[in-house]
Amino acid sequence: MNASNIDTNEVLVDCQSVWKVFGANAPEAMKAVVERSLTKKQVLQDYKCVVAVSDASFQLRRGEIFCVMGLSGSGKSTLIRLLNRLIEPSIGKIIVKGKDIAKLNPAELRKMRARNMGMVFQSVALLPHRTVLENAAFGLEVQGISKGERNRTALAALEKVGLADWVERYPSDLSGGMQQRVGLARALAADPEIILMDEPFSALDPLIRRQQQDEFRRLTKSLGKSSVFITHDLDEAIRLGDRIAIMKDGVIVQIGTAEDIVAKPADDYVADFVAGISRIHLVKARSVMRPVDDFKRSQPQCDVNALPQTSPDADIGELIDVTMQSDGNALAVVEDGVVVGVVTVRGLLRGVAGMPAEELVAA
Ligand code: ADP
Ligand code: MG
Repeated sequence: MNASNIDTNEVLVDCQSVWKVFGANAPEAMKAVVERSLTKKQVLQDYKCVVAVSDASFQLRRGEIFCVMGLSGSGKSTLIRLLNRLIEPSIGKIIVKGKDIAKLNPAELRKMRARNMGMVFQSVALLPHRTVLENAAFGLEVQGISKGERNRTALAALEKVGLADWVERYPSDLSGGMQQRVGLARALAADPEIILMDEPFSALDPLIRRQQQDEFRRLTKSLGKSSVFITHDLDEAIRLGDRIAIMKDGVIVQIGTAEDIVAKPADDYVADFVAGISRIHLVKARSVMRPVDDFKRSQPQCDVNALPQTSPDADIGELIDVTMQSDGNALAVVEDGVVVGVVTVRGLLRGVAGMPAEELVAA
């Protein structure tokens, strides 16, 4: 699969109103939730059951990195395990490449996991008495692939993650970050279309972590893979994710690009996460600009076509640069040769402060 000609509209995983309730009385609890809309708290009290995932819907599109972010206990691991049926949903459907995975028989399920989905966990659990190469080849070994072939394939995967020189070593010779890369190589060796990552970098030092994030994004994009990536860290989600879903108490409370989420947090929970994030590279001209008509009403003498120009996707950092280089205090946002909005200094400040673009002023 070539990264440049992929159909990014193709839906690889379609998670449709999925619920997961854990506990001995889970079926009764689920029924009560559907019939009487019990809350998570009531379900715990009345049925001693945990609603881990609550009515979750999202789609993973081909080529994207879809991050799921939330505090510990918000249901992220349950959600990702539902996607390859390590856990069965209480209700709801998961469609992978057009197939309802609940209907796969054990052989088909194994095949789907091997071909379509590789998974990497936070604790990568390498086999200590096996070499790096043998560890990377382990999934292929389980699939019954011959030694020669699996070693060739595993070596190619280790090369992709930069560990070609370490094949004969043992896991204990490797740093934590390198061990994680072996885990990734093991997942990549089967050449799955989708890589499921459950907090793979959470235990790493910040600097190593950043390197791993950048490498993972580069690798995923260059190999044309798609990924659901779980994290409890919004910075990581923003660095990695093309889109981000925010989970709270089993519920997906918001799905959007990093910019959407930072500019318009859906509730106080999301707003709290977003509060510490720098907006300079996240907020774009299109979300801080004022409509042209609105601007003209307040400054009728200004010719918007004569203003310095920028594009709708310019970030606040770029807008500040252009503004500083000009002697005015407004920029025209131009798309396809047409001025579609005006960014004022006030608008820039609102963007930096995390305030929404100004509402239309009544004429
Ligand atoms: P996260 O990965 O976001 O930390 P989890 O999906 O692991 O969250 O857990 C969500 C909730 O479901 C938690 O309250 C957790 O205790 C509960 N949970 C997870 N797995 C099980 C299980 N196998 N049995 C019972 N409760 C579980
Ligand atoms: Mg988890």
